[in-house]
Amino acid sequence: MQNTRQKPRVVILGAGFGGLTAAKKLADFASVTVVDRHNFQTFLPLLYQVSTAGLAADHVAHPIRGALRKTDVQFQMGSPVSIDHDKKSLTLDNKQVLDFDYLVVALGSANTDFGIPGVVEHALGMKSVHEATTIRAKVMRSFEELCSNQNDSVFSISVIGGGPTGVEMAGAFAELVRGPLKNDQARAAERIQINLIEAGPRVLPMFSNKLSEHAKADLEKLDVKVYTNTAVKEIKADSIATQDGKTIESEITIWAAGVRGEPAASILNLPIVNTRIDVEKTLQVKKYPHIFAIGDVAGFTGKDGRFLPMVAPVAMQQGRWVAKQIKRLSTQQELKPFKYVDKGSMATIGRHKAIVEVKKFRLVGIPAWFAWLFLHLFYLLGGRNKIGTIADWTWNYVTFDRGNRHIMDSV
Ligand SMILES: Cc1cc2nc3c(=O)[nH]c(=O)nc-3n(C[C@H](O)[C@H](O)[C@H](O)COP(=O)(O)OP(=O)(O)OC[C@H]3O[C@@H](n4cnc5c(N)ncnc54)[C@H](O)[C@@H]3O)c2cc1C
Repeated sequence: MQNTRQKPRVVILGAGFGGLTAAKKLADFASVTVVDRHNFQTFLPLLYQVSTAGLAADHVAHPIRGALRKTDVQFQMGSPVSIDHDKKSLTLDNKQVLDFDYLVVALGSANTDFGIPGVVEHALGMKSVHEATTIRAKVMRSFEELCSNQNDSVFSISVIGGGPTGVEMAGAFAELVRGPLKNDQARAAERIQINLIEAGPRVLPMFSNKLSEHAKADLEKLDVKVYTNTAVKEIKADSIATQDGKTIESEITIWAAGVRGEPAASILNLPIVNTRIDVEKTLQVKKYPHIFAIGDVAGFTGKDGRFLPMVAPVAMQQGRWVAKQIKRLSTQQELKPFKYVDKGSMATIGRHKAIVEVKKFRLVGIPAWFAWLFLHLFYLLGGRNKIGTIADWTWNYVTFDRGNRHIMDSV
């Protein structure tokens, strides 16, 4: 049997896309401990389907211990509270002290409000399963109130942020209203208005102009009111004030407009640039050659001089790369710079409505929608989650219904 002390000791903070990918690759030659505040990984790309009643909440969560069962990787549920850089040790909130030869920081990102008043008080975030079920409960409770108060007033749900999360969410809400809620109580459903508000000139700015226009047209077919060039000035309890002096009624406001590097990273006393950890091309943290940062929390500059986007493929590619780098370091080899391979983008707007762009190749409509479904299913962790998701999607597709409309936050 191999002596485990001769293996490099690696601690990974965060068991998301980057952290778990790195852990599985490192397991072959290192003694690895993964730390996360949750005992499950969240599949964030499908979270919006939980908040819009398309998927059961536990289909997007996968136990970390289950993901690591076939490896020797250890798991600690907890959060870092302090670091001793001289001793190379980390203390967690559960009092555990972890000594390491190499540290990988993969703590992800958090919502940011850009200093806009009212975001924290009145908008709902979309970064966790808990937040997704809170949104679902709030929407479904409001629908019940609309069913009991039969008048003609309009009830508005606004999603702020025209990136993939905002677009997918607005489309999914519109389908929830036009399908299941209309079948439950048509008069109440007809009074619900869905808004999508974007500060820039177009939605999905990472796609070409043509596809971005296509997505906007798809949203409008679903009766989503799309506001572009509309920067939010303040969010109030039941309305949104915009920079150009408009007031948009909004009883439920969802914030999908901005993310920043996870603030917990500051506990580690590492150099931060624009909310993300400052890294070299090798993914090593500047001035800390035995510490690496990957994924959303890493401020890695791409070819265009800008930070790489906060997307899962970046985190996974960096997770694989960091394992190679640690192997190189522990065998006295030279490190190589990380290069991101952009494999394209996709977003779905609703049933049979999606866009895919891979360099100059573009796909829209039904084939793009099936490509989106297949890819998300492929990357979803865990056989149980895949089967549950296929079951929910098939049910939704065949019946035009959504079986997860429960309000489960009350006694
Ligand atoms: C709603 C939503 C939809 C998205 N949709 C897409 C999409 O369709 N396609 C795409 O490519 N990307 C999408 N993204 C972005 C993608 O999910 C992220 O880029 C990716 O998760 C980054 O991986 P990561 O490993 O850096 O961080 P994460 O996957 O977020 O993992 C970070 C981990 O760190 C843990 N953590 C954080 N703070 C602490 C702490 N203090 N103590 C202990 N543990 C901590 C968290 O619990 C988490 O498990 C979406 C993001 C969101 C929020």
